[in-house]
Order: sequence, then structure tokens, then C-alpha cells
Amino acid sequence: ARQTGDASYVFYSSEMNERAKEHLRIETELRRALGSGQMLLYYQPKVSLRSGRIVGAEALLRWRHPERGMVPPGLFIPVAEETGLILEIGGWVLEEACRQISEWKQRGFNAPPIAVNLSSRQFDRGLPERVQEVLERYDVTPDRIKLEITETLLVRGPEQVIPIMNELAAMGLALALDDFGTGYSSLAYLKKFPISTLKIDRSFVIGLPREENDCAIAQAIVTMGQQLRQEIVAEGVETQEQMRFLRNLGCDQLQGYLFSPPISNEAFEQMVRDGKRL
Ligand code: C2E
Ligand code: CA
Ligand code: CA
Ligand code: CA
Repeated sequence: ARQTGDASYVFYSSEMNERAKEHLRIETELRRALGSGQMLLYYQPKVSLRSGRIVGAEALLRWRHPERGMVPPGLFIPVAEETGLILEIGGWVLEEACRQISEWKQRGFNAPPIAVNLSSRQFDRGLPERVQEVLERYDVTPDRIKLEITETLLVRGPEQVIPIMNELAAMGLALALDDFGTGYSSLAYLKKFPISTLKIDRSFVIGLPREENDCAIAQAIVTMGQQLRQEIVAEGVETQEQMRFLRNLGCDQLQGYLFSPPISNEAFEQMVRDGKRL
């Protein structure tokens, strides 16, 4: 380390170095992982609060590292975002979801719609065509796939993102706004976008029904969604009390450990075939 005579600087700088090295290591390993079958998708069911039935699932990326075991996406997605590797990874996720849907179909299992997370970086003019190509290659109809996007995308400005969203919507793909409430989109802003689903972020669900502020926010999101004719999904639902509160508000769907954690494709197929209910 440099001699600065400032102990805190030296400490800080070596800590930065460690972080940079860790980043680089993850990046190198991520590249390798993509090509060697270490990535896989888990599926977390979404259930209707009305019928109690599974009406969809969210595909969530998992990295089965040969030495580290399962690496949670929170550890590597940010690195992938920074390095741009998320483009390749995101492309793989969409392709793998379509491949799975088509495999399921061949086995006589008609899976409910699968939602795929999209990074803002994937959202460019070429996206609709890339999605179209994958759908066609796997013979998957657009109503089998949903795209989850976050509010960070919307701050880029409506002129930039609306045409792309419209193109996707015209193709028959439903768009869901993920982690809703954590970003900056205003109500007036929201109606400009062709978004069919709002996902209430887990951070507001945690405090239900005891935290007054969380209740007010959940209530506001459901009311607004109903006015805009959007479907409302609550994520991270863990307790019966949270479920009851959300059902009373008129929330449409629930996703969370209360019903099921993310599970393997085999386990998901089995769960749907068994007709598991809320
Ligand atoms: P997210 O899109 O908000 O996904 C929901 C996260 O909450 C998942 O974490 C899920 O396992 C977790 N979760 C679901 N139900 C519960 C619950 O009841 N309690 C608790 N405590 N947690 C619950 P996961 O799988 O670790 O994913 C974390 C984040 O990584 C995702 O947040 C998403 O932002 C990102 N991510 C995952 N897969 C992909 C992907 O394929 N592409 C992109 N761009 N991002 C992804
Ligand atoms: Ca999501
Ligand atoms: Ca989410
Ligand atoms: Ca979230």
C-alpha cells in the first residue's frame, strides 16, 4: 500500500482493493459459469387470492458454483450489471425459460405464464426482435411469458422506453412493474406505460398488518392498480395475517414463502400437477 501517513486512507484503499479483486474474480467465474451449465432457473409460484390456485411463476436465477455452492443472485447480479455481463445472462435466462416451457409442453404439461426478470440494460431497441426470435425458435406463444421490469427503467424517460414497451405489448407480452413503490414513478407517470401488472415490493409487505405506513402504501397501490386496470401481485408474503390483509384490500395474487419458496423445475411441475392450493 502507498505510504501516506494516513492510516484510515491506507485501510480504506486496501479494502477497496479487496472489493475490486472480488469483483474481478466473480466476473471471471461468471463468464465460465454461463458456458458450463452452472446457471439454472428456479420457479416461484404465484397464486390467485381468489381461487387459491397457481396462476403463474417467476423464474429466478440460481448459480450452482462447484465450490461455493448456491450463490444467491444478490451477490452476482450487481457485478453482472456493472460489467455488462447481464446482457448475456439475461439472454440466457429468457432462452432457458422458453426452453423449459417447450420441454414441459412436449411432456403434456401446460405451464402457467412464466415471468422473467429483465435488467434495464437489456431494454434497448433490439429487445423486441430478440424476444421474438427466441419465442419462435422454441415455439412458445407470447402469452406464456411475462417480463418483469423495474422502476429504474422508467426514469430513463418515457420517449425512450414507451416505444419499446408498446412493441412488446403489441407482440402479446405482458409487462409487470417489479418492486413497485421503491422507486420514483409517480401515479400520473404510470398510466403512460403499457404495464399490466404491479408487484408490491416485499419491503411494504413485511410490516402488514401492523405497520400503519405499510398498510397505507399497500392500500394505495391496490387502489391505483384497480383504477388503471392492472393486476396486483404482492411479493414476499410469509404469514397468514399478511395474506388476509392483502386479500381484503383486493390484491389479486400472492407470491412468497407462505405458499412456496422458489423451487426446481421438477418440483414446480409436480406442484402444479398436484393442484396445490393456498
Ligand atoms: P426480485 O425480482 O424482487 O425477486 C424476489 C426475491 O424475493 C427472490 O430472491 C425471492 O427468492 C425472494 N422471496 C420470495 N418470496 C419471499 C419471501 O416470502 N420472503 C423472503 N424473505 N424472500 C422472498 P432471489 O431469488 O434471491 O432474487 C433476488 C433478486 O435478484 C430478484 O429480486 C431480482 O432483482 C434479481 N434476479 C433474480 N433472477 C434474475 C434474473 O434472471 N435477471 C435479473 N436481471 N435479475 C434477477
Ligand atoms: Ca422480480
Ligand atoms: Ca420483486
Ligand atoms: Ca423485491
